[in-house]
Amino acid sequence: MNVDMRKDYPRKFVPPDADMGDWNRIEPIFDDLERRPIDTVAQLEQWLLDGSELAACLEEESTMRDVASTRHTDDEEAERAYLHFIEQIEPKCRPRWHKLRQRYVASSARKELPTSRYAVYDRSTTTAVEIFRSENVPLQTEDKKLYQQYQKLCGAMTVEYDGREQTLQQMARYQQEPDRAIRQGTWELVVNRRLTDRDELDDIFDKMMDLRAKIAANAGFDNFRDYQFKAYERFDYTPADCFAFHDAVENVVVPARRAVQDRRRKTLAVDPLRPWDLRVDPHNRPPLRPFEKAATLSEKCSAIFHRIDPALGEQFDEMVRADWLDLESRKGKAPGGYQATFDETRHPFIFMNAVGLHGDVEMLLHEAGHAFHCIACRDEPLLAYRHCGMEMAEVASMGMELLAYEHLDVFYRGDDLGRARREQLEGILNIFPWIATIDAYQHWLYTNPTHTREQRTQQWSSLLERFGGVEDWTGYEQARRAQWQRQLHLYNCPFYYIEYGIAQIGALQLWQNARQDKANALRQYREALSLGGARPLPELWAAAGVKFDFSRATLRPLIDALLAELKTLD
Ligand SMILES: [Zn+2]
Repeated sequence: MNVDMRKDYPRKFVPPDADMGDWNRIEPIFDDLERRPIDTVAQLEQWLLDGSELAACLEEESTMRDVASTRHTDDEEAERAYLHFIEQIEPKCRPRWHKLRQRYVASSARKELPTSRYAVYDRSTTTAVEIFRSENVPLQTEDKKLYQQYQKLCGAMTVEYDGREQTLQQMARYQQEPDRAIRQGTWELVVNRRLTDRDELDDIFDKMMDLRAKIAANAGFDNFRDYQFKAYERFDYTPADCFAFHDAVENVVVPARRAVQDRRRKTLAVDPLRPWDLRVDPHNRPPLRPFEKAATLSEKCSAIFHRIDPALGEQFDEMVRADWLDLESRKGKAPGGYQATFDETRHPFIFMNAVGLHGDVEMLLHEAGHAFHCIACRDEPLLAYRHCGMEMAEVASMGMELLAYEHLDVFYRGDDLGRARREQLEGILNIFPWIATIDAYQHWLYTNPTHTREQRTQQWSSLLERFGGVEDWTGYEQARRAQWQRQLHLYNCPFYYIEYGIAQIGALQLWQNARQDKANALRQYREALSLGGARPLPELWAAAGVKFDFSRATLRPLIDALLAELKTLD
């Protein structure tokens, strides 16, 4: 730990020299929080701040070790340090946090806390205590172990192609290959490989379904859907709102997407369009190459942020100067990308594996949106309010991608500019129906827990009819029916996924607002980010100048505007 990093937010309760990797130093701090009186509002508020500081220090330690190990996967010491934390420290903290939450709920001063300040914290904490059952802890561990089996099966999926063994992720790039026979051949290899493990993936899922039904019943819920809505703190929308989202996607997005796909079919001069024709450039051009070196990627994104808002541009430059970015792909880095928040020193960090593709530009714009969110609310004293639900967090990031839309000329000229913009907008049309499919499927699964595999398959197929594209799957029906198995969220974090669809609706509204009145939209965006998670979702959205509603009435004008913009790219 670089102690100097703490100068802006010094520890006031946790001893400055207390090592958060050492349980002997952590335990007395929990003991203190468990013992000290919280009978008056003043005592309770200070106790909340102190608990928040401990949580931030522990989170900082965990993030620091996690980030270090993803930056250097070949560093055994870094890996050991991270594992020590998640195996030795976190499990000891978890029951202690539960005790502290129980103390909070039982405190007589709780009801006297000012609602305007504590309502969000209160409903979150009381709900966590309300649905907690000690008998569910081993069931949840069992569920996690089953997910490890899923990961192991999927991680072992490779195919022989082009003279070498390749993972299914590595195979994805052949879908951009202009040669159609290569696309088809590689696509078949991948779906057939997945089908080999279809029964085992079904077995794992059946076991998870049983466990989840038990978890819900233990906590006193009729079904796992209702339990999970509480566990995810979905206080501000209901299953009926999710159904309204499905309806809006079916009626507004699906026809628009099918029309765009039909255009692709004509441009590609194929009939019918097949599943291996969906990723290739319709004019058979090679992938976009927006930059060579990661330094150029961050310089150009900085230029975009300065154009959007000089203050955001300056924040990004501060991140570059402080070395809070690790963008370039290199040996020994974990795959993927993320934005992490260091909760004690209160700064963002962005990790990526940039190789010079358009996806890298999109990812940095996206993760920077999360980073701006972190910076905007860093002065909030309660850790719980420096984070918020994904429904809002993703508005910050997806919104930033769209605010950057008109500035993509920093990276592209001529045809490439139109192509990058088309990719971005078509990506939005593609993702909505998939989100609706996954969400509607989960609603059905968990409210029909006694279904057979055959019924499950039928339900999935009928949802694909409802939300799917125009591509023709003839001859590959089995692969289509098993397609849901590749969506890891179904295994890993059940019911999670609609968050992205909700946030995309917020991001599109923000984009439209910015086209009307840029300065005001930016002011509202930054104002909403500065609230962190201190307000309920509809209020955070209102602060951003967007409506928390996922029905046709909201989605229709947004998709109309998107289609009108797509037309200008012809
Ligand atoms: Zn994100």
